[in-house]
Amino acid sequence: MNLSLSRPAKNRHCAVMTNANETKAKAGAIIVPVTLFEQNCTILWDAETKQAVVFDPGGDVPKILAAIEKTAVKVEKIWLTHGHIDHVGGAAELRDALKVPIVGPHQADKFLLDNVVTSGAQFGMSGVRNFAPDRWLAEGEQVQIGALTFDILHCPGHSPGSVVYYNKELQFAHVGDVLFNGSVGRTDLPGGSHATLISSIKDKLLPLGDDIGFICGHGAGSSFGQERLTNPFLTGEM
Ligand SMILES: [Zn+2]
Ligand SMILES: [Zn+2]
Repeated sequence: MNLSLSRPAKNRHCAVMTNANETKAKAGAIIVPVTLFEQNCTILWDAETKQAVVFDPGGDVPKILAAIEKTAVKVEKIWLTHGHIDHVGGAAELRDALKVPIVGPHQADKFLLDNVVTSGAQFGMSGVRNFAPDRWLAEGEQVQIGALTFDILHCPGHSPGSVVYYNKELQFAHVGDVLFNGSVGRTDLPGGSHATLISSIKDKLLPLGDDIGFICGHGAGSSFGQERLTNPFLTGEM
């Protein structure tokens, strides 16, 4: 969660999903900002089959459902990056509405999913529910939507159970709140650790390569190379 980041509450189409070596996009994505935290709920799909996932439905479920209908994709799964309220507040409601399974995050965030109602009350979010995902994710596992395969990287530090979804072919990652454009996830919440977070980024994400583009939980996306060179938390300036 990061209150300092905000953007106009308008859905954004993403260009990062086009592989430069291909003549046509293999995937599409749209970002639907949700909750008072302007969290980047992301609908991502296989361009060929229109099979889709919803990353981090933090709230404003009617707005997410409207975006799904407008995009004309078939949502088959809900994928969670971590357990914070702005990422999971609408997950149980969306699962009921779409009759699809919730996948992720890592089980180390179970304490957050068990306390969604309590967290929601702190921010005036009503109608949220505690829930368990249909599948926990662990380091090295893979998840699929259509012909797209994502590797799971367990990247604790912002929360203990944060995971990053990485697609090698598309040179793309969804990093949740682990890394931001010019910043990193906050580490003052329960289970957070700044040293662990920086290790997750430097040891697991940056080695994937400078060309990897990413969507993050708040604000504009970036690439690992851009952040490696300019992000003050990675260059040693902070
Ligand atoms: Zn978070
Ligand atoms: Zn967040």
